[in-house]
Amino acid sequence: MTTGRELGKTRLPHWAAGFVVLTCFAILGLSGWREWETRNTELRNAEIDVANLAHSLVQHADDTFELVDTVLIGLVHRLEIDGTGPDTIAKLQAYLPTRKSSDRIRGIFVYDATGRWLATTEHVDFSKLNNSDREYFQHHRDSQDKGTLIGRPVKSRAGGQWIITASRRINDADGGFAGVALLTIDVSYFVKFYERFDIGQNGSASLLNTSGIMLARSRDESGAFVGRDLSSTPLFKGWDSRPAAAVYYFKSPLDGVQRLSYYQRSTRYPLMALASKSQDDVLAPWRRAAAMRTTFVVGLVLLIAVIGSHLVRQLMQRQRMAQALVAKEANFRLLAEQSSDMVTRIGLDNRLLYVSPSCVRITGWSADELLATSALAGIHADDMERVEQAIAALKNGEAEEARFVYRQRHRDKGEVWVEAALHVTLASDSGEIDGVVAVVRDMTEQKDLQDKLASLATTDGLTGLANRRAFDERLAEEWARARRDGTQLSLLLIDVDHFKKFNDHYGHLAGDGCLRALGRILSAQARRPADLVARYGGEEFAVLLPNTGPEGCAEVGEGIRQALHDLAMLHAQNPPSRLVTASVGAATSLPSQNTTDSSTLVAASDRALYAAKDSGRDRLVMSGQVVPWPAKSA
Ligand code: GH3
Ligand code: MG
Ligand code: MG
Repeated sequence: MTTGRELGKTRLPHWAAGFVVLTCFAILGLSGWREWETRNTELRNAEIDVANLAHSLVQHADDTFELVDTVLIGLVHRLEIDGTGPDTIAKLQAYLPTRKSSDRIRGIFVYDATGRWLATTEHVDFSKLNNSDREYFQHHRDSQDKGTLIGRPVKSRAGGQWIITASRRINDADGGFAGVALLTIDVSYFVKFYERFDIGQNGSASLLNTSGIMLARSRDESGAFVGRDLSSTPLFKGWDSRPAAAVYYFKSPLDGVQRLSYYQRSTRYPLMALASKSQDDVLAPWRRAAAMRTTFVVGLVLLIAVIGSHLVRQLMQRQRMAQALVAKEANFRLLAEQSSDMVTRIGLDNRLLYVSPSCVRITGWSADELLATSALAGIHADDMERVEQAIAALKNGEAEEARFVYRQRHRDKGEVWVEAALHVTLASDSGEIDGVVAVVRDMTEQKDLQDKLASLATTDGLTGLANRRAFDERLAEEWARARRDGTQLSLLLIDVDHFKKFNDHYGHLAGDGCLRALGRILSAQARRPADLVARYGGEEFAVLLPNTGPEGCAEVGEGIRQALHDLAMLHAQNPPSRLVTASVGAATSLPSQNTTDSSTLVAASDRALYAAKDSGRDRLVMSGQVVPWPAKSA
């Protein structure tokens, strides 16, 4: 037998739930991964932007300082050849302004070995001015190096603005220190140049020297950042081991903004450019788009999760229902199969669709043998019409249930009484009547008991003859029949003589035996099938003889009396024979429409019996017969 668990339970809901969860995580994972990729692409693109910018900045700075260098080299070369005499200086003072380009070079200066101003492009009175305190001146004075020195930004003595200095040492003919040639560039020149680039609100373009001093920075018109020493920042720590150009992520020590940047060192000058963008600015468009996309994806995943969980719940509910159905069906099957009653299902064509195993007990045939055979087979012919009518009424919808008792053929026992309870069944889809369920119970035992009770009600316990009740019923029937048929009906009433004395003398048990013996005699003498022998009460018996005239009646009565004599049971108190004897009263009637009822026949017999007793006992007296009075044998 297949169990309910195997039938109803599958792992389908688990698989479905797993699939939904997997799908949700896959969508979330893929979208998260895609967003991360997009973010990194945005950063890569920004890195390329800042790298390009840094290239441009370095290129610009290189070009600028190359021009400065050219001017300085030319100037120093002339001064070293011509010396710094008044003529030369005067010529120089006339020449210098022609070398000053309007935007790049702010001013050109020449100092003597004591720091005194010799010549300048500036229109100032410089007779009293001395620059020997400047760092670049002291550097050139103390160093033989003939190269160009790019100094820290300083505030101009001439104009007061921030300037970057480029200077060279001037030697005299002996190689001694003769002074310094200086060229200045406005920091604002770079600042203005940097404005051309779109680097975002929080981006920056900076020019630094390789010692970490800020030379110029975009949007720094006020000069707040110029000259700052950034040598202690992480970028400049381990500076020597860094490549000449690289991407660099940092949190700005100047404004605290997280930046992605690209730095590039100049190959010709001790300079570097740093182009940076705010990481937030770079990622802002991506963040907005990603937020929208993520909202959409999360919404989609929630929808899938909700629909998925709904479907999984449905699946589980269905499974539970299927299991319950299987269990229920198993219960019903168990009920049907274990029941001692035979449970059957009958189709509209009266064929058996299902028969429970109890059919073996009730019909003697197995369920397999009965299946698909007619449900009416084996029903006793006398009961068939009744059963067919009941089933037809059920199928027509006239009744919903029926119950009746009938005889059913049994394979071995021949015939059994059964009781059937029938109910119509309705199709689950259409609600139409689609058959009948019959529960059939073996009623043989009940029927036997019933028969026994019925016979007990009509039989006398002591003699086995019909009792008074049965006699009364038969008398009424036979009276009616005789009246119908116009036949004669005779009645004998037999009373044992001096039976009280018999009892007193021989005891009650012997009395009972005597009565039984008389009963047997009566049964033997009333031979016709229609004859009825009954115990009328006490020691009084009645014999009903249908279709019998006075002669026949007298003959039977005489036969009884004689048979009792022949039995010769001793009765000492019954003289003269001293045997058990009986007196018999007989009457015959021809019932007609005029005669009222059977009681007249009984009364006539009773009178005849009375007469028999009175006239000496142990005799037959016919009703209407003249008897001697009083009898001499009394
Ligand atoms: P009679 O000749 O006038 O008929 O006299 P009797 O004694 O037979 O008449 P009575 O009606 O006075 O007595 C009947 C007796 O029958 C009384 C009772 O003790 C006895 N009797 C009645 N039924 C039974 C019975 O079932 N068994 C026995 N042993 N005696 C019974
Ligand atoms: Mg009596
Ligand atoms: Mg008597």
